[in-house]
Amino acid sequence: MFRKIKPVASAEELAQMLTVPRYLAENRIDAVNQISRIISGEDNRKLVIVGPCSADNQDAVCDYSERLARVAQKIKSSVYVVMRVHTSKPRTRGEGYMGMIHMPDISSGITDLNDGLRAARSLHLRVAETSGLFTSDEMLYPHCIRYISDIVAYLTLGARSAEDQEHRFFASGTDVPIGIKNPPSGSVYDLSGSVHAVRIPNEFLTDGYQVQSSGNVWAHAILRGYVDIDGNNIPNYGKEYVRKYTEIYCAQSAVVPSVVIDTGHANSGKNRMIQSDIVGEVLSLCANDRAYNSVVKGFMIESYIVDGNQPFGGGIYGRSITDPCLGWNKTERLLYDIAEKLGT
Ligand code: PEP
Ligand code: MN
Repeated sequence: MFRKIKPVASAEELAQMLTVPRYLAENRIDAVNQISRIISGEDNRKLVIVGPCSADNQDAVCDYSERLARVAQKIKSSVYVVMRVHTSKPRTRGEGYMGMIHMPDISSGITDLNDGLRAARSLHLRVAETSGLFTSDEMLYPHCIRYISDIVAYLTLGARSAEDQEHRFFASGTDVPIGIKNPPSGSVYDLSGSVHAVRIPNEFLTDGYQVQSSGNVWAHAILRGYVDIDGNNIPNYGKEYVRKYTEIYCAQSAVVPSVVIDTGHANSGKNRMIQSDIVGEVLSLCANDRAYNSVVKGFMIESYIVDGNQPFGGGIYGRSITDPCLGWNKTERLLYDIAEKLGT
């Protein structure tokens, strides 16, 4: 049973209120093209999707984006930077901060989806307008994706959603590169199946219509580590997992697989400050192993202004209220280090 609380503006209404200026729409297409060429192997640069676990505060996120844009500009000959602006957060136990879409103003603690969707769209727009960077978000609620789909340049299907048929259907109709996370249990078979399902056209029900999606040919895998039966975090960015995923994927598909390494989540377990070490390990594997290097297209890194995290309501500006993040100083050093190792 549901109780109606209040109406919510449609995606079309919000798009009219918060329009994407023509120059930004053109720049977004350019961003999407650059990311797709990295994913498909036509561009040898690495992709780095970096930013807070959750975009919880408009000002802190924009402050971060301006710092990031300055570095992105300097390393662009070897790295293409996308900023994480993730406005909806999956919760393992169904409780806790659910992201800007649910709670646009964390100081009020009120759930307001109408204001939240507007805040999320306006934040993606504001980051693109003020920093020139394009953004990623997670497709947690398939029906909400239209509120932001004309302004993001990259999407993810989270670990908890990746095996869900409806998520895959909607993902197969998106028109930006989409990274599919491995499921929390870590099966690379299921991951390969999910990537395939998103790449192909699907027919399904939405908005009172039977529709056919185009299939998203840029769908690829994100390895984020997994949790074993005893609750231990097991990393999966090493050679064996990448090789296993490649073998399984190639046995099922004629397309060469692509993988992004998520340095947070179960790959770094309880100590998210080791994200820089993971990047270092992956880059040395890339330098020494051509097969690994050709499949691994880049990184997803959780980073904010202040190191670590804090409880909801903690009040420290620029510190994550969800997963722990690398602070800005460490992130800046890491990005220059990546560029240097890649040879710029
Ligand atoms: C995230 O990227 O913050 C996230 C929730 O990831 P995952 O789906 O891998 O847990
Ligand atoms: Mn996270």
